[in-house]
This record gives sequence, structure tokens and C-alpha cells, in this order.
Amino acid sequence: MAAPLSDSEKRKQISVRGIAGLGDVAEIRKSFNRHLHFTLVKDRNVATPRDYYFALAHTVRDHLVGRWIRTQQYYYEKDPKRIYYLSLEFYMGRTLQNTMVNLGLQNACDEAIYQLGLDLEELEEIEEDAGLGNGGLGRLAACFLDSMATLGLGAYGYGIRYEFGIFNQKVVDGWQVEEADDWLRYGNPWEKARPEYMLPVHFYGRVDHTPDGIKWVDTQVVLAMPYDTPVPGYKNNTVNTMRLWSAKAPNDFNLEEFNVGDYIQAVLDRNLAENISRVLYPNDNFFEGKELRLKQEYFVVAATLQDIIRRFKSSKFGCRDPVRTCFETFPDKVAIQLNDTHPALSIPELMRIFVDVEHMDWDKAWDITKRTCAYTNHTVLPEALERWPVSMFEKLLPRHLEIIYAINQKHLDHVAALYPGDIDRLRRMSVIEEGDCKRINMAHLCVIGSHAINGVARIHSEIVKNSVFKDFYDIEPEKFQNKTNGITPRRWLLLCNPGLSDIIAEKIGEDFLTDLSQLKKLLDFVDDEAFIRDVAKVKQENKQKFSAYLMEQYKVKINPSSMFDVHVKRIHEYKRQLLNCLHIITLYNRIRKDPKKSYVPRTVMIGGKAAPGYHMAKMIIKLITSIGDVVNNDPYIGERLKVIFLENYRVSLAEKVIPAADLSEQISTAGTEASGTGNMKFMLNGALTIGTMDGANVEMAEEAGEENLFIFGMRVEDVEAMDKKGYNAKEYYDRIPELRQAIDQINSGFFSPDDPGRFRDIVNMLMYHDRFKVFADYEAYIKCQGQVDQLYMNPREWTKKVIKNIACSGKFSSDRTITEYAREIWGVEPSAVKIPPPNIPRE
Ligand SMILES: *Cc1c(COP(=O)(O)O)cnc(C)c1O
Repeated sequence: MAAPLSDSEKRKQISVRGIAGLGDVAEIRKSFNRHLHFTLVKDRNVATPRDYYFALAHTVRDHLVGRWIRTQQYYYEKDPKRIYYLSLEFYMGRTLQNTMVNLGLQNACDEAIYQLGLDLEELEEIEEDAGLGNGGLGRLAACFLDSMATLGLGAYGYGIRYEFGIFNQKVVDGWQVEEADDWLRYGNPWEKARPEYMLPVHFYGRVDHTPDGIKWVDTQVVLAMPYDTPVPGYKNNTVNTMRLWSAKAPNDFNLEEFNVGDYIQAVLDRNLAENISRVLYPNDNFFEGKELRLKQEYFVVAATLQDIIRRFKSSKFGCRDPVRTCFETFPDKVAIQLNDTHPALSIPELMRIFVDVEHMDWDKAWDITKRTCAYTNHTVLPEALERWPVSMFEKLLPRHLEIIYAINQKHLDHVAALYPGDIDRLRRMSVIEEGDCKRINMAHLCVIGSHAINGVARIHSEIVKNSVFKDFYDIEPEKFQNKTNGITPRRWLLLCNPGLSDIIAEKIGEDFLTDLSQLKKLLDFVDDEAFIRDVAKVKQENKQKFSAYLMEQYKVKINPSSMFDVHVKRIHEYKRQLLNCLHIITLYNRIRKDPKKSYVPRTVMIGGKAAPGYHMAKMIIKLITSIGDVVNNDPYIGERLKVIFLENYRVSLAEKVIPAADLSEQISTAGTEASGTGNMKFMLNGALTIGTMDGANVEMAEEAGEENLFIFGMRVEDVEAMDKKGYNAKEYYDRIPELRQAIDQINSGFFSPDDPGRFRDIVNMLMYHDRFKVFADYEAYIKCQGQVDQLYMNPREWTKKVIKNIACSGKFSSDRTITEYAREIWGVEPSAVKIPPPNIPRE
């Protein structure tokens, strides 16, 4: 009998990973050795595994540069409309394997590295995640870059090169502890600094209204240094650019006239300027009105818009007039997509450039601005909406404040003309919120300054139109759109789940990787016994592999034949990790009460970071680990229930755990999760979803059929009705004995014997001020989990549902999402053109 294939052998089977020609392999080996010598300045006697990783990274990078230069030259010649995706976050994760995947180099590298006596997977693990994001919003930006390149769009990602990304999470005594993410410590082989394109960004100062125009003067200058990262499309020779700005103090910083005496202090103070790009704010779905964050937002906007306008002015067809720039064509050549309100300052900054610098008249400038910008809304949670104090703007961005007031005045005049006497409407729709702290509502600014506003899933886009922005929808309904989120199938299937990719490719070929709707063809194999067995086998192998990883990394032993019940995402009250906790406790109590009965063994894995300032989220982590301590060490429970907190959930960990999941927890209160993208990753990787009718879950159920997901709980209408009536948690507590027992245990110190009152804040919240109505969905959730157990006891039926889910997940490719943005917002068409491969210059 043949020995089972190893992972790396399996990777080779599928030709999408590239043909490992003998010449290619030899070339890679040679290049690797050359980089080890000339770039790393090491030989094999002293090289560390990290040196080998860098040698390989440089080898793979070399395959990008010719295509990168060629693509940019092609854009210059063809001058297509440029798409600018502005985002404060790009949650990229690792780059090495993704580059090999998109260039079709995986097999050749695997073979070359093997011949060198090294292990590719081991080297891949050395790479730091580029964690320049918090969660879904930042990861969406990363998936969009992949799809925009794959669809041949002349697109750019613009953001900040944070020196420290999202913190590393340690769990100490069951509590979250944050560590700085020094991801650049060993250097970043994927970026190229471009000091020659450095640009000034102004802050503070005052506004001079002079006879020959308005001047923003006496400002402090910070320089923006661009770092470019290549973004390869999938096997189409396109390589786009992600340009991230880093803050640099000018050399005369703090050394102006009056300060000549204190040279040393002036040099030390350079940090003040350079702090702008120091660290990512670690809040997910939460607004914290810190001045440094506002500086970050203006910094990326000001540098990016200068770059965009420079590129427009030097473009071939953007402007034919040799003397004056004809900005009339600007919206035909430039689209700016705002990823949430974080880059909203683009709107007043464009106005400032057009009016103050280019001397355009206001109305024309406003028309061009509006036709250029489009805004994506990511949440309706009020605590997440950016509302900056006017006082902060007055100091930091005085001219922008004037412009925002002027924008608002014209907007309110327009509304007043449409609704004479409706003072309350004017108050509701104003960009400026009056009160003891006057604030600027950035979402309102984005809505009036954009030609398109979109939500990120159908249900969310409806909520946007009918509640948060209803007044705006009444006036300009044609601006409001939906663009349901998606994920890139390259990273979230081919890269992370080679086993599943292979058996799919065996059945339907490889085209699904760029046209995910082709997964529909798998419906022909729902009853194919061999395919059912293969799908189950791949899942089992992924579970084995993840179990081995947990053992190796954390000395945690789990049972790979138990159901892997996975709940990974940022820790947030609205995502209701607490509902999951109540289910775990209920299962625990049931097993204790009736230990003789048979139970479906479960390993519940929960992972996610809590914002460092979010007390309740940190308490939730401690509760999860405390429940784990009790459950995992109870001899009555044994193998039947385990609770694991997955430390430091991030992109590279998602790539490991999602392919191993049986059950995907997507249990937010209906109406609170705008879309979710984790839900899509699980569906594509053969997990079944237990979820509420929220975000994109609604569309997943529509695609796969509601009977193929485990849908439970209140719908949005039910939540609204309950809000009208009033939610009374105590009612459920009094009526449902198992719920009462669980709450009493949490409250009495059953899970915290060393400090019985530890979880009183959690209990108090759940009982008396739970905005997310955990108890209201408890019964339906527990019952639904029972149905999950029932189905899991029938592996064949389970796997058939899995296959139906995979087959129906095609809609959730970010290629589909980007195609819709391109056609319906940006006015461009995706292109299947393969740019000819480059001629590599040789010595
Ligand atoms: C996809 C992803 C998310 C988003 O998950 P949701 O369940 O949609 O909140 C967050 N973090 C990481 C690391 C991800 O890969």
C-alpha cells in the first residue's frame, strides 16, 4: 500500500500551484543561494532559519519586480481610470505564500527548498503577519487589493505604514495582556521605500483671508514617506501597488528662528512628528476621539491626494491643456473609495486643493469632489460613528473646519428649501452637531460629499437607508447602494486549504479560483459517495493538523474526532461571545446532571482580541478562560467537552483554524453585524454555520437554502418590536431554569472561586442593561445547538450539507464584490487582459 501523501506532496498534485520544471527549480535554488550570500551575507554554516526565510522571500520577490514595473508602465501608457482605495487599515497577514500562489511558483519553490534540505512550511511560519488592521474592515481592504489586481484594475491601496500593528495578545492567568507588535524588527522584504516621492503634510496654523485668496499659514510640516508593496493578481502578470505613508520630521523640525539654541532638544522632538505613523489604534467598531488619530486620518488623506493629483496632472489623457489643468475630466480618470469615514477628510481636502490652490469656483469644485468620492459604511453602531469635536479641528485643521462649515451651510440651505419650516430635520441632517461639545459628524459629511454610499450586505444596506441615513435617502435615494462583502478565494481556499482545493479541482477543474460561482457545479456531486468521503477526509486531516499545531505551540491536547465548534472574531458585546459561554455552561451542566447519557464530543474554540480599553471585552476573555479551567479539568466531563481560548487570533491563525472547523459561530444580535466576512471563510472551507439572520448570514442562507444552515433567534423585526416593548432580561432568567443556573454559577464564583464577585459586571450587564439581548436568543440557540448535535451524529448527512454550502458559497468571492464596485460605483470594467510577462534584465 502506498504511504499517505504529505502536505507538501499534496500541494504538488494540483497544477494551479505551478509546474515545477527542472530549470525553474534550479533557477530558484541558485537565486536562493545568491541572496543568502549577497543579501543576507551568510553561509550555510551560520545561517538561521530566519535567514533562509529572507533568502526565499527575496528570491520570490525578484519574480514580482519585472511584472510590477511593467504593470505600472502599462497604466501610464493606457491611462485607465485609476481606482484609489483609501483605508486606515490593511490587514494583509503574510505575503510569501500568497505571492507564490498568485505567481504559480508554489511547487517550484517547494521542490527547490526541499532539495536544499529545508522545509517550506517551516520557513513560511517565520514571517511576521502584517497586522495593520483590527478585524473585518482591514481584512476586507486586503481582499479587495487581491481582487482588484486579479481583475486587472488600475488600482492603488493607500494607507499608513504603522510601525506597530495590532498588538500581540498574550493570555496570562486567563487575562488578556497586550504586547507591542514590532513587526519591522527584522526588516520587511516586501516593501520598497520611495524617499524621492516624499510629500509635506501641514497641521495647525491659521487661515489668512487675503485679497488674492485664502491662505493656510504658519503651519507645522510633517513629511510623508511612501513605502510601496507589490500586490500581484492571480496569474495575470498584473502587479498593483499598495502605498503606505510613514511620518518623517523635516530636518529643520523645531529648529526655526526662535529655537536655534536648543539643537539637542529639537532633534529629540522629531519623535513628536514621527509618532503619527507609530501605532495602529486597536479599536474595532469603536470611536475614540484622540487627537493623534485625527492626525493619522489627515496625514494619509493629505499625502494621498497630493499623489493622486500629481499622477493625474502628469497623465497622458487626464489633461490636454498645457497651461491650466482641466479638472473637468478628474472624475472620469479618478475614483476615490473611502473605507468607512476614517479617510473622510478627503472631501474637505479636495475642496481645499480645488478652491484655495487651484482657484476653482466653489460649485464646480463641489461637483467634481462629489463625482470622485464614494463612501462605504461599515457599521450602524452609534459608538462606532466618528464625531470629532469642533474644538479639535479649530486647532489642528482650521481651514478644513471653515470648508466643512461652508459645505454644511449649502447643504442645509438645500434641505431647508425642500422642507420649509422643518427645523428638526435640519438639526438631524446637519454635519455639525450642536451641544455643549460641538461635533462634526463624519458620516454625514461623507454622505453629502459622495456620489455613492454603500452598505456591506443587503440587510445592512437596508438599515442604512431606513434608519441611520433615512433623511439623506429621502433626498437622494439614487446614491444608496449595496455591495455585499466578499473574500479572496486565493488566500481563503487555495492557500489555506490545499486539500480541499485539490478535490474540488479534480471534480470541476481550476477555473473556480477566478470565477467562484463555478463551485455550483459541485451540486452534481452531493450524492457522490467518493466525493463525500474525500470532503470528510480532508476535513479530518485539517483537524488533525490543527490539533498537532495546538499541541506543538501551546501544549494543549484536543480530541481531533470531536466536533470543532469555532467562534473567532474580535471580542465584542454585539458579537455575543457571552451567548456561546451560556451554551458551554449549559452543556456542562447537562453532562454533570446526566453523565450516563451519550453526548456529541465538542471542542469549543473561542478566539479574538479585545480592545485594550474595553473593560467588558476583557472580562469576557477572562470568563471564557475561567469556564475552560473548570470544564477542562472536571473528570466527569472527560473528552466530551473542551473549551479552548485561541491566543492571538490574527490572519495567519485564521488560515489554520478555519479549514479545521466543523461549526462556525455567527451569532450577533440581528441588525448589529453589518456583514461579517469570517462567516464566508468558514462556509467556503466546509464548516456549517450556526447563526442569526444578520449581516451576510442572510445571503448565505439564501444562497445555500435556510435548511442547510442552523439559523435561530430573533430577526431584525423581532429586535425592533422588542425595543418598542422593552427588553426584560429578568423575565428569561426567571422562566428558564438552565439559564438561571448558568447565570447563578457565573455570579456566585463557580468559575472564579478565588474571587467570587469577579464577574459581577458581566452578570449585571446581562441582567439589567444588555443592549444586545443575549437572554432573548438563549432558548432558540440552545435548541439549535441540539439540532447541530443531531446532524453531527450522522456524518454522511453532515458532509452532504457541507458540500451544498461550499457549492453555494460562490457569491462571496471578493472578485464578485469588486466587479460590482467597478461597474456600479467606479464606472470601469474589469479586464481579463494578461499583461505580457516581463523580460528580465540579465547581467
Ligand atoms: C476575517 C477576519 C476577521 C473578520 O471576522 P468577522 O467574523 O467577520 O468579524 C477578523 N479577524 C481576522 C484575523 C480575520 O481574518
